[in-house]
Amino acid sequence: MGVSGHMSKKQKAADAGIAQRYRVAAPRSFRLAGVDPGDDGGLTKSAGEKGLKRSLKKLRALQEKFYADGRNSLLIVLQAMDAAGKDSLIEHVMSGVNPQGCDVHSFKAPSAEELEHDFLWRAHRNLPARGRIGVFNRSYYEEVLVVRVHPKLLVPQKLPEAAKEPAIWPQRFKDIVAFEDYLARNGTTVIKFHLRISQEEQRKRFLDRLNEPGKNWKFSMGDVEERKLWDDYMAAYEDMIRNTSTAKAPWFVVPGDHKWFARHVVAQALVDAIEAIDPKFPKVPAAAIPELNRARSALEAEAPVMPPNDAIGQDH
Ligand code: ATP
Ligand code: MG
Repeated sequence: MGVSGHMSKKQKAADAGIAQRYRVAAPRSFRLAGVDPGDDGGLTKSAGEKGLKRSLKKLRALQEKFYADGRNSLLIVLQAMDAAGKDSLIEHVMSGVNPQGCDVHSFKAPSAEELEHDFLWRAHRNLPARGRIGVFNRSYYEEVLVVRVHPKLLVPQKLPEAAKEPAIWPQRFKDIVAFEDYLARNGTTVIKFHLRISQEEQRKRFLDRLNEPGKNWKFSMGDVEERKLWDDYMAAYEDMIRNTSTAKAPWFVVPGDHKWFARHVVAQALVDAIEAIDPKFPKVPAAAIPELNRARSALEAEAPVMPPNDAIGQDH
């Protein structure tokens, strides 16, 4: 069935359920190994792509309302191993939304200026304003992932004596949860996705980057070094998800070996999240209606404005 055709009840229900399956609902007992990176939800690629189109269409309509409403913001956090497909996911999922209502920010290793501040400072400066959707391509969560796997990265952070390993990790979890609670209370909904790929899929994608000249630029030697620390990263991810998945700011652990499936799940999760916010077009107060009517009459009564003759076809 086409995107514009009528959707069957079954299809609607299937779309609606697809994302919530991957939401971490019981963080304390969450196990990363329980999510199969190769899961495709029992869908064919073509069904998944059609599902994505349906979700994108809904997302577009919802974003328009969300922007017009202008009371809330939505922060999308994306965390994943290299080559998990974050960039192409952003490209596909955000392709439908109005760029004027959307900001994407990529977090790299912190600059000298950023290192002079607390770890949430640079995140706070890049939060989406009301009415806007912000995407964090990597985020403050790097502070309990790459920094945890390489604790020497703590040294240039010049932290107080008390902020030491191993106590610093639970402290950071606490700070992050408090930060996200604060955001929720102030109108920013945070939704977090971990794209989970298998180590074998990463190997294939790295080889693609090496074999295809058009993809060479995406390859970095550092990525191969990080790959050797796979198990340490998985342990850090698992602990992070267990400690920072909350009802208001949940983690979704999304199977990532099939890119089309990951996109379908993420797009639908965003639809679910904005539907829950339930944005409304602002209503013009009844008192303003006569004024609108006067403006309409005045515009209708005006004679059509013609461009002056000498302005046509001339540069100056
Ligand atoms: P790609 O997948 O295309 O390589 P990328 O997101 O990996 O994109 P890069 O330019 O390779 O982009 O680099 C981002 C790097 O910055 C990552 O290695 C990440 O771990 C690192 N980084 C991000 N935040 C921090 C942080 N707070 N402390 C230290 N390193 C960080
Ligand atoms: Mg990289």
